[in-house]
Amino acid sequence: MSKKGVLAVISGFSGAGKGTIVKELIKRYPEYALSVSMTTRDPRPGEEHGREYFFVSDEEFEKLIEEDGLIEHAGYCKHYYGTPRKFVDDCMQQGRDVILEIEMQGALQVRKMFPDALLLFVTPPTATELEKRLRGRNTESEEVIKARLSRAYEETEYIPEYDYLLVNDDLDKCVEMTHTIIRNAHEEISRNGEFLKDIKTQLEVYK
Ligand code: 5GP
Repeated sequence: MSKKGVLAVISGFSGAGKGTIVKELIKRYPEYALSVSMTTRDPRPGEEHGREYFFVSDEEFEKLIEEDGLIEHAGYCKHYYGTPRKFVDDCMQQGRDVILEIEMQGALQVRKMFPDALLLFVTPPTATELEKRLRGRNTESEEVIKARLSRAYEETEYIPEYDYLLVNDDLDKCVEMTHTIIRNAHEEISRNGEFLKDIKTQLEVYK
């Protein structure tokens, strides 16, 4: 089994429940390294700097872009979001599986930079359910909810770029499915080139 860390990217419509899936995944399987993103949006009630996000100013964010300190970044509903490079690099070097919970533009940038990243897309079973979940959060204005729903429509175009679809109608099932997908990735032939090279060398004496 490949000892190299898997970079797993989890995206989904805003309100699809990917945050809850990721939180539960980390709780059940603390061996996963969850990347904490940087954003210029304001913290929601209960969110803490360094836990949910690193909350920074536009200037701080732009400085990090210039210094190439982010592996990807995107504008989402008038704010910047990005993944700090150092944490991901360090974890991958240690062979840890890293989870990024990011939106689609960022996910597609990650795919370009790390072609063997695993891309998972989370959706609720129906659009009505999506709207209900967004409204149920009670944290966003009507304008923001509408923007997020319209963005969801635009995102449908790019879902085929992903590797796996997770229909979130059962949290427990989705968490276990995510874990299984990431675990199984270690067994992919394409991630086991070194092992295969070694065994071929060992077998040369029999040829
Ligand atoms: P929220 O404001 O609801 O916390 O997040 C809005 C969107 O930004 C979500 O789809 C979330 O997955 C995405 N997001 C969070 N962090 C990052 C990041 O580092 N990069 C990108 N591209 N998107 C992110």
